[in-house]
Amino acid sequence: MYNPGQWSDSKKRHTEMHVVIVDPSRVVQQKLAAELEATGCYVDCFAASDLALRFVETTRTVDVILTSLELEPIPGLELCWKMRTLVSEKRPLHIIVMSSNTSERALAEALDCGADDFVVKPVRREELMARLRAANRMITLQRQLVEQADTDYLTGVLNRRAFLAMMEEKRRELDATDSLSVCLLDIDRFKSINDTHGHDVGDDVIKAVARIAGEEAPIVARLGGEEFALAFPVLDAEQAAHWCEVIRKAIADCEFEGGGQPFQATCSFGVSAWSADEPLSAALKRADQALMTAKRNGRNQVHVASSATLAPA
Ligand code: GH3
Ligand code: MG
Ligand code: MG
Repeated sequence: MYNPGQWSDSKKRHTEMHVVIVDPSRVVQQKLAAELEATGCYVDCFAASDLALRFVETTRTVDVILTSLELEPIPGLELCWKMRTLVSEKRPLHIIVMSSNTSERALAEALDCGADDFVVKPVRREELMARLRAANRMITLQRQLVEQADTDYLTGVLNRRAFLAMMEEKRRELDATDSLSVCLLDIDRFKSINDTHGHDVGDDVIKAVARIAGEEAPIVARLGGEEFALAFPVLDAEQAAHWCEVIRKAIADCEFEGGGQPFQATCSFGVSAWSADEPLSAALKRADQALMTAKRNGRNQVHVASSATLAPA
């Protein structure tokens, strides 16, 4: 499968919690880190709050921040507030404040500054573990909700909304000179597959197409019905077309069964490069025109949009 390194990161699944400890004392850091690591957590420790903030800003795998309030150069409550602004729909973060000040006012202040939870110093192991389990439940639930909102219910690939968002994100991640190609895939004569074998068998074909496309293309989305979008970062249109050809052949070679009758299904593909200086809609429009050409020319083929419509290099 074609899968450039820079791509695999965003697909990484969180199997264990990544905890950042922020405390001025090395002794406290080491004690907490040892306890957390013993339960399978991945831990990073910081004494300076500005370094911790920079780390969390740039390290998207961080799940939990366990922070003291007596910090420099950014005071603890301000650090909580700044960490809180990093939280988004796509980025759950659980902030736990550690403090020896047990007054109600201190607790309220920490929570008002964006902390999710509060533990009394010195931190007792049992309590910390229970609070981390609670954090894990919240984070897992939030990730599940985000995933459901982004996923096509039938095939498990991205839905249209998530595809458009992901493409904009990837375009920002890549350099303006990096290639990025898109492809529209449409199952051929799908209406007749439904009519001949029934809607459920039609659904099975849609699922198989999603699965086969996902074996070769790093980004696959179902735009609706029997139409998919694929994306190939860092590949130009000709290179992307090569992988579409692999997918086309794998689908055409696949044998389906409907009411005891084996049958085959084919797909048509329209490929276009997406250059950094145009909106995604322009590239998708060219891909759609290329798909129409593939259909007109007899289906079961890959057609690349004319590069003459692209900005000169
Ligand atoms: P072409 O080769 O030109 O693409 O022909 P086509 O028959 O594939 O295209 P058309 O747009 O005429 O038919 C698409 C059919 O897809 C019609 C619709 O009933 C069916 N369809 C849309 N969504 C689903 C779905 O989720 N499941 C199933 N089984 N069928 C669906
Ligand atoms: Mg079709
Ligand atoms: Mg269609």
